[in-house]
Amino acid sequence: MSGREQVSGSAGERDCGPSGSPRISQFTHGGGSSHRLTYGELDAWSDAVAAYLVDAAPVGKPVVIYGHKSPLMLVCFIAAAKAGLTYAPVDIAYPADRVNDILAQIGHPLVISLADGDFAGDESLASSVMGAAAVRAAIAAGRSVGRECWIDGDTPFYLLFTSGSTGRPKGVQMPSRCVDAFMDYFTGLFPVREDGVSFNRVPYTFDVSLFDIIAGLARGYTLFALESEDEQSMRATFDALAASGLTTWISTPSFIEMCLADPAFNEELLPRLDNVILCGEVFRNATALKLIERFPSARILNTYGPTETQAVTDIVVDEALATEVNPLPVGYLGGAMAAIVRDPETGETLPCGEVGEIYLAGDTVSAGYWARPDLTEAVFSEIEGEDGAPVRCYKTGDKGYLDGEGRLFCLGRLDFQVKLNGFRVELADVEQALVRVPAVGEAVVLAAERDGKVSHLVAHVRLADPAVPGDFATSRAIKAALKELVPEYMVPKKIVYHDEFALNVNGKIDRKALA
Ligand code: AMP
Repeated sequence: MSGREQVSGSAGERDCGPSGSPRISQFTHGGGSSHRLTYGELDAWSDAVAAYLVDAAPVGKPVVIYGHKSPLMLVCFIAAAKAGLTYAPVDIAYPADRVNDILAQIGHPLVISLADGDFAGDESLASSVMGAAAVRAAIAAGRSVGRECWIDGDTPFYLLFTSGSTGRPKGVQMPSRCVDAFMDYFTGLFPVREDGVSFNRVPYTFDVSLFDIIAGLARGYTLFALESEDEQSMRATFDALAASGLTTWISTPSFIEMCLADPAFNEELLPRLDNVILCGEVFRNATALKLIERFPSARILNTYGPTETQAVTDIVVDEALATEVNPLPVGYLGGAMAAIVRDPETGETLPCGEVGEIYLAGDTVSAGYWARPDLTEAVFSEIEGEDGAPVRCYKTGDKGYLDGEGRLFCLGRLDFQVKLNGFRVELADVEQALVRVPAVGEAVVLAAERDGKVSHLVAHVRLADPAVPGDFATSRAIKAALKELVPEYMVPKKIVYHDEFALNVNGKIDRKALA
């Protein structure tokens, strides 16, 4: 796969940047420590871990890589690719229940646990669990693998588990050839510069983290990441940013909005910043205008795409666009991708300007969900391309339209999937977890909005035992139980109690009335 060639091919001569700084850096500011990794180390270390994986990992099974931001995570992702294996990142934010579900779905995978603490999952669900010490021992052994082992073609390069409406996470498989196609497109959004530094902020479980892992590495950028402690405090984040030398910012609009709330977030803090890539949720005009004011010399890009296709559109958002077009377009289709807008009822293709469901077709469309042919069949298909050849297509569930200039607009969802601070959440996923809490009889989860954006989740609950009071203590206990089942960002902020739910004419719980 060409992305890997770029990295390994650059070993040695790219060990240091022009200023002598390492080319791939992961800084941590907890206790003043910082971790750095050069392109040369990434190449040699991933070779050594790959050699270990070829011997130790079950053949053809994704390797689960558990942890948070650390250079060794990156080493292991590349090592899996060099061993011809798919990697599935799992973040420490996932509770044991979710981790176990992922292990069970894959079926006894090898787990590499790089978390500071213990592995959260049940070790009996893994073929074996390899800790950081074993990874370091493999690196010290210094073995290597031949290029013939490297991942290629239809083998999934990665498997990302995202919130599923069935109450279980679903694994999006991205074939190696799709990663190549995405790299061909997205590398163009990283300016050519000798000393580029990109912000690898979002968790590895979120497709946006791959923007610079794939395209940033292909451009020879330094990847800059924060440790979780630094993400908790804006003060620590700003200190780290000031020392980062960032040239390309990558985040969700929510995160940059949080930063913009502080007037110190400006060109003085990030004097080298020339490129801002935002993705994952609605980018509001007001945010764009504020950003343009704070960073007048930077190019600001809105990009869009679900995990199932990777990012597929981009557009430069300048003052004229942010003032004149509301909502902002998500952009022009990039790479070998096309968008089709269809009537959600009839499936008929709609002309420019008409709102319908967005379908995305082309080279970066996923192979489907891991071991879920039913879910895959429901949203993936093959359509006929312009030259008559079959093209893979994904039904996004997004509502939107294409304008006469070929710009795509995304106007929200047609279903119950929401974006909360950039995290993709299926409301049904939270509802299913809630009804597993013994105190809960029935549950409906709604998204509360502020200024056209989801601000928090509200759970409407009928308690299993009518004698139990729906009070603060009950809410606290339910939230604590829920935290054992879903990541914390999926736990509703507010719980409203009902003796019974009103039904609509179809006999279903009347969600509109609850809202
Ligand atoms: P994820 O799979 O987590 O990347 O989430 C993908 C979904 O986020 C899309 O299907 C859209 O609903 C939403 N989304 C992503 N990027 C944008 C954007 N730039 N503007 C509006 N919504 C977006």
